[in-house]
Amino acid sequence: MSEKTMNVFEIVQEQIRQGCETLGAEEAVYEILKQPKRFLQVNIPVRMDDGSVKVFDGYRSQHTDVLGPAKGGLRFHPIVDADEVKALSMWMTFKCAVVGLPYGGGKGAVCCNPKEMSPGEIERLARGFIRAVGNFIGPEVDIPAPDVYTNPQIMAWMVDEYSVLQQRNSFGVMTGKPLNIGGSLGRNTATGRGCVYTVREAAERIGLDLNNSTTVLQGFGNVGSFAGQFMQEEGSTLIAVREIDGAAYNPDGLDVNKLMEYRAEHGTVKGFPGSKDLSNDELMNLPCDILIPAALENQLTSRNAGGVKAKIVAEAANGPTTPEADRILHDKGILVIPDILSSAGGVTVSYFEWVQNLQHFYWTEQEVDERLERIIVDAFDSIYSMSKEHKVSMRNAAYLVAIDRVAQAMKARGWLG
Ligand code: GLU
Repeated sequence: MSEKTMNVFEIVQEQIRQGCETLGAEEAVYEILKQPKRFLQVNIPVRMDDGSVKVFDGYRSQHTDVLGPAKGGLRFHPIVDADEVKALSMWMTFKCAVVGLPYGGGKGAVCCNPKEMSPGEIERLARGFIRAVGNFIGPEVDIPAPDVYTNPQIMAWMVDEYSVLQQRNSFGVMTGKPLNIGGSLGRNTATGRGCVYTVREAAERIGLDLNNSTTVLQGFGNVGSFAGQFMQEEGSTLIAVREIDGAAYNPDGLDVNKLMEYRAEHGTVKGFPGSKDLSNDELMNLPCDILIPAALENQLTSRNAGGVKAKIVAEAANGPTTPEADRILHDKGILVIPDILSSAGGVTVSYFEWVQNLQHFYWTEQEVDERLERIIVDAFDSIYSMSKEHKVSMRNAAYLVAIDRVAQAMKARGWLG
């Protein structure tokens, strides 16, 4: 199938098929995993500020619950469809399994443009979504979290609505909440932090000194901005950042904290003093040591992968590399840290948040960060060793580890022959 016609759902199915084949897993493992166990499509009528009623499409996909409740983000984005949400929920299964969390994969989306909506409209949409899916989620069933264009405030409205439906507080139904209603210290920065732990490990393996390295970032939202900040703390020089509407490029380095302030004020990184703009392909092909795609799916493609000059690609986004681009990067000898490992920091601290909610016992930021570091470093280590031992890419190794864990649980539960 050509790269153009292959959608992300087909990509993940192919990844599962290949993984099952390599593992020699029985047919039922692929048959169970090739689609979500449950997929909900809802419509959500919302009273807009001008008095009109607009109806939004919403989705929630629960891939598997073999290892535990479904877990994964909920995005608000103008371009989402059922197949994309299904694929994202499937990647969450493997992301959770790679780092050993007791969860299956989940993902949701509402098709909307929050940038053009007032806070009141976003709140009514968030509450409407929960009223539509309320019977199908819960701390032991499916636990949503922030994703693209959603944030702790949106989680707070959703927890509140869910608690009203349940007639009791239920903080464990969502993660990524504000600190004062059951959020966890360290959750906001966790995906960026986890990504940088994987970069640090990878750099050590290939003998790259981060103090003399350069980093390029695609995406500067919650994940990208903190990844940039932590890369800078590790001694790397951030030379370029691009978002959907433009870039900030300065070969002498960008100050991440100043760039964050600039973006908060101007709503874009474009025009940051001393920087120039770049196209997306120019950004991907800049000479640098570390490239971090931290935006959306299908950003590294056969069109731009051949020109990538980085030594390490750390996938902080979900599914940023097409299979064709993946092969090209692999053939060029670039170390690609797969999304299901490099972006697992967020869901790992979501797990910590959920544990704290269930126990009503809260941890210090140091406890959160130390536990996160241990989990990510251990997972990196076992996947790196697996990739060396079986002479496969880090991505293939990660899928082998993840699918094997899921298949073992199916076996234990008596789902297989
Ligand atoms: N949306 C994040 C992800 O894709 C976090 C999910 C979660 O915390 O449940 O990994």
